[in-house]
Amino acid sequence: MTNQTKKYPRELINAVKGLAGAYRMTLRHLFRRPITVEYPEVKRDLPERSRGRIILTVSPDGKERCVACYLCAGVCPGSCISMQAAEREDGRRYAAWFRINFARCIFCGLCEEACPSLAIQLTPDYEFCKTDILSFVYEKKDLLVNHGGKNTEYDFYRHAGVGTNAEKGKHYHEREPVNIKSNMP
Ligand code: SF4
Ligand code: SF4
Repeated sequence: MTNQTKKYPRELINAVKGLAGAYRMTLRHLFRRPITVEYPEVKRDLPERSRGRIILTVSPDGKERCVACYLCAGVCPGSCISMQAAEREDGRRYAAWFRINFARCIFCGLCEEACPSLAIQLTPDYEFCKTDILSFVYEKKDLLVNHGGKNTEYDFYRHAGVGTNAEKGKHYHEREPVNIKSNMP
């Protein structure tokens, strides 16, 4: 018997095993009680990281987190984010206007990944279907919320864009430096 002919019975056994497995799975589900969620009366609790409607969050002191760096707009594959940067008297940047066109958004979450200040966040809210396509254009007033979203503690301006006169390890939430000689033999 050649190697080629030896292979066929093995392939046949694997094919039968695969078929039997598929039928077993079908039979198992055939006699199970169906799990039906009566939406919209019953709403499922989605995981916190579900990607739905986008919000602009604020830092613990209530100030807007967005520093209008354009990273979210740059990374967005749908080109649905636009804004205009401005600067306050104290030098803090903010978005004079900020716009998201949800009609183009694919909820990929890349804007959230790119954001250095945790300002832009996706939420599990998926209930904002509309028939008027123009109403999918959300302005800053529609996006801005009065909380910190998934991370209520983070304050970009305490970590970055501030003077660094303190010793190493003395800055906000900074660990003491490791003594690299401490583990020498
Ligand atoms: S979720 Fe994706 S497509 Fe939607 S605004 Fe963010 S980067 Fe753009
Ligand atoms: S939301 Fe974040 S990434 Fe987008 S401009 Fe503001 S700070 Fe930059």
